[in-house]
Amino acid sequence: MPDPIDDLLGNLKSSVSPMRATLQELHAKYKSVSDGTVADYIPELALAKPEWFGLSLVTVDGDAYDVGDHALPFSIQSVSKPFVFGQALDDHGRDAVLAKVGVEPTGEAFNAIVLDEESNRPFNPLVNAGAIATADLIHGKDFADRIKRLMTTFERYTGRSPHIDNAIFMSERTTGHRNRAIAHLMLNFGMVSDQIADSLELYFQQCSIMVTAHDLAVMGATLANAGVNPVTKERAIKQQHVKDVLSVMLTCGMYDYAGEWAYRVGLPAKSGVGGGICAVVPGVCGIGIFSPPLDPRGNSVRGLKVCEELSERFGLHAFELGFTGEKLADQFRLRKGR
Ligand code: GLN
Repeated sequence: MPDPIDDLLGNLKSSVSPMRATLQELHAKYKSVSDGTVADYIPELALAKPEWFGLSLVTVDGDAYDVGDHALPFSIQSVSKPFVFGQALDDHGRDAVLAKVGVEPTGEAFNAIVLDEESNRPFNPLVNAGAIATADLIHGKDFADRIKRLMTTFERYTGRSPHIDNAIFMSERTTGHRNRAIAHLMLNFGMVSDQIADSLELYFQQCSIMVTAHDLAVMGATLANAGVNPVTKERAIKQQHVKDVLSVMLTCGMYDYAGEWAYRVGLPAKSGVGGGICAVVPGVCGIGIFSPPLDPRGNSVRGLKVCEELSERFGLHAFELGFTGEKLADQFRLRKGR
């Protein structure tokens, strides 16, 4: 006679979806990786525990697969940059934004104090210089209104009201001399407005927004879904600007590792020094990863490994010929798709 407990366990096991099982497998495989160091140049970031590790994948249909510390909040840091770039594009249009910020990868560190010598523009919106210039473009009738608009942008992507961690914000702000130097260099060249002091505050605020790996997956899924949040069904960015954001993420999103990332993983993505990565599989899903230990370039060590393996296993590279989603078919049922 079959044991009812065994039966129940068997049923529970088979109810674990293949995608969740895959993420669990990757989590178990990479959690013992101990390479990398937690960022400490913003003092508050040094409080993160190296063992924190969360994975999340959200499809364009709004289905979520979450594993490990997927609900643990951490500061979004540079992962905020492409989303603010998208808002600047919506506010001003492509040409006006391009006049202030380029779209060239730099090959330099994210906080390099460099501008394009000919145009005086920051190279791209995903290094600090470009992100500060982008924050400067956010519209609003006054400072409070600009902050509100920026927060509303994030709310549309995550589906919930953003929380700014005050300790991280103060830590960013009191140690942000390098970012101030970059801002003043741009002011010297007339690339930012005279409201730059406010714009720096906006930038420090956007970096201090708390998110989870799950949030990053929903944000990625929104870009994957042509700009509509697949959970709330709310549009977060005009459809025509989604490809602009994704192309810059593909070429510039992973700091000075961006070229090798495009080569090995081939997905638009953005990392942050809090240990977050948001990757996008256009038409399919968003991937959110949280693991604080970083490599020397500032990318999450475990995050890179997980993305590399997911891309390889499921043929997710943007230039994978004949991507049909076949390898994903038994992982989750996709009602829409690229
Ligand atoms: N707030 C951080 C800074 O301005 C963001 C950097 C990052 O995540 N790469 O240095």
